[in-house]
This record gives sequence, C-alpha cells and structure tokens, in this order.
Amino acid sequence: MAIGLQRATGRHYLDGEPITLRWADGRITAVERDAAAAGGWWLAPGLFDVQVNGFGGVDFQAGGLAAAALEQAVAALRRFGCTRFLLTLITDEWDALMARLERLKLLREASATLKTAIAGWHVEGPFLSPEPGYHGAHDPSLMRDPSPELIRELRAVAGESPLLMTLAPERDGALEAIALARSLGITISLGHTNASAEALAAAVRAGATGFTHLGNACPQLLDRHDNILWRALDTPGLQVSLIPDGRHVSPALFRLVHRALPRDAVFYTTDAMAAAGAPPGRYSLGRLELEVGTARIVRPPGRTHFAGSALTAIEGVFRAAAMLGVPWQETWRRFSELPADWIGVPGGLMVGAPADFCLVRPRAEPPAVELRVFAAGQEVAQSVVDLRGIQLGQAARGA
Ligand SMILES: [Zn+2]
Repeated sequence: MAIGLQRATGRHYLDGEPITLRWADGRITAVERDAAAAGGWWLAPGLFDVQVNGFGGVDFQAGGLAAAALEQAVAALRRFGCTRFLLTLITDEWDALMARLERLKLLREASATLKTAIAGWHVEGPFLSPEPGYHGAHDPSLMRDPSPELIRELRAVAGESPLLMTLAPERDGALEAIALARSLGITISLGHTNASAEALAAAVRAGATGFTHLGNACPQLLDRHDNILWRALDTPGLQVSLIPDGRHVSPALFRLVHRALPRDAVFYTTDAMAAAGAPPGRYSLGRLELEVGTARIVRPPGRTHFAGSALTAIEGVFRAAAMLGVPWQETWRRFSELPADWIGVPGGLMVGAPADFCLVRPRAEPPAVELRVFAAGQEVAQSVVDLRGIQLGQAARGA
C-alpha cells in the first residue's frame, strides 16, 4: 500500500487485483491495474448507511443540535468506515419534523465536512402503521396519512439532496403519495407496515423500490401462515435492508433472506442511534429515553423490545460475513455500492465517484480490522476496530 499525492494503492476489494486509485478535487479520476501495488491493504469504497438516527453520543432528533455535535458524530462514523450516510429523522409532529429537517439542511450547507458526509435524508414516518408491534419505537399517536401537499412540502424543505422516505402503503392516500414522491425523485421504502400482499404489490407498481429493516418493526409473535415477512419476501421488486447485528434478525433468517431474494436485492443498514460508537449508558432517540448495556442492545429501560441499534457499519460488515460464511468483501459491497446505487448516488471505486474509500487490513489474532478512511480525497480517520465479539469463520476472515 502506498499513499502519495492524490493516489493510493492496494488490492481491489472485489477481485483482489492490485490497483492504483487516483483522484482530484475530491473525485476519483482513475482506477488502474498496477502489478507493483500488491501488499497487505485492500481498497474498498467507503461504507454507505441509509439509516443513521444518531451516532457517537449525538442524537440527530435532538432540538437545537449544533454543527459541532454533528461533526463529532461524523468523525465517529468515519472511524468505523462509514464515509456517507442518510441522516434519518423519525416520526414527530409534522411541523416539528420539517423544522428539524430545515435546520439540519442549513447546518449541512454551512459545513464542508457535513456536506461530504451527509449524502441526503431519510424520513422514517409519520406515515407508518400505528398497530402494536408495527410502530416499533415510533409514537403511534403522531402517525397520520400522507397527502400530496405533505409530500411536496417535504421535497421543498429537503431541497435537491437525495431523499428516502419509509412509509406504510396501507395508509389512506399512500399509493398516490408514492407515485407523486417518485415523480419528485424521492426513493420510497416500505416499512413499519402490516400491508396485505395486494397493497405491497400496488405500492411497487406505484413506484416503491425498497423495504426498510425487514424482520423488525413487527410483533414478536406472527401468524406462521401469513405475516409481513412472508408477504414482503414474496413481493418482487423490493430492495430489502437488514440490520446485520445477529440480533435484529436471527442468523438463520438472515441467511434465508439472502437465499430467497435475487443477489443484489439485499443490503445492510445499522439503524444506529446515539449509543453507536459510544460507551454503554442512557441515550435519547427523539422523545425516547433508551438504555444500552455491555451487550450493546438498545432498549427502553425495563422493556424487551429493541429501539434502533448500537451497531457500527464496519462491525455489520464482519458480522454479516460471519453469519453467511462468506468473505467480508462480499458483505462490504452490500454496505457500500449496493445502497448507494439504490439511492442513485455513485458509490463504487469508479471514475467520477467521490474519492470516499477505505484501506482495509483485517488482523487474525485477536480479530480486528485496521482502517484508513478517506472522504473526498482527504484522510479523515485511522482506526483499529476490535472484532472479538464476532465469531469469524475462515471465509469471513478473508485476509
Ligand atoms: Zn424503523
């Protein structure tokens, strides 16, 4: 591995070929085979997370959030390999939600760091199912039906940036809202839903292309013959996100989802909240007070259900590889290029894409991964992430 002026070398993460990556003005200008470039480092695109509610002790739902706090969260995300993400806002009163988005947009516009790191916005709610189990950590009393006016307002407030919206297609007016959202360039993912198979299919016809954190936002006990998991898996045309921490989705279901769906239809997200990349303790997620213990599970105090995760993207890559028994390079793609492609932004190691990449070197004993992280061509983090909590098989180590 070598890093010079606007150039880095290593092995391409997908095919192992030695390459030299060149960039200028924050964008990749060349990806060249280079026989002299071999070494212990892999070159991979920066991790891209479509659902981050907070990180490094910072809750993105908090009122009056300062640019410095957001930059602190970005710095923490980068130490774990995530160079770009969709800042995620959850269900709230509509006007409060729009005011928060407006404020965050202004903070982003004023900061070069935030501009490169926040690829866009994910608005999860308030057009969700209020049914017990399906609403998850969202307040059902604040949920409502979508309307064309609200969708237009959302697009106007978010500006030109990539925009993802999670909604439940069984809500009144949802199909019209999905079609309008698509025409305005908003990506629609279905989630926090108990929609029928017919409603899911109609949502896909109207323009929905994703399903948010499959296996979560549903009750603990489901009808074994007919439930939202089977219906979603049986609906063609949806890119499905999974939280790969081994808890939000059991390892067996995790593997089965990969077998059931087309190769490129599964990608990963952390759904991280403030406790991710931070020590155990009490953290907020909007109006909710949550507790995170040493096992890194996020729950309301004294309750059993999950509310967001304390997962980091790099841990997700290696946990997914361990669950699937595949090399980490395969799961890295599902946490970088695939979600970026789905959102419609360039995410791979390709000419014209942002020079957001990681130099990666896994260590065997004790299991860990060394990272050098670049955003817009600048080195922004160097870290060693402990992977001892993860049972890595031979394939997952892939060193
Ligand atoms: Zn959710």
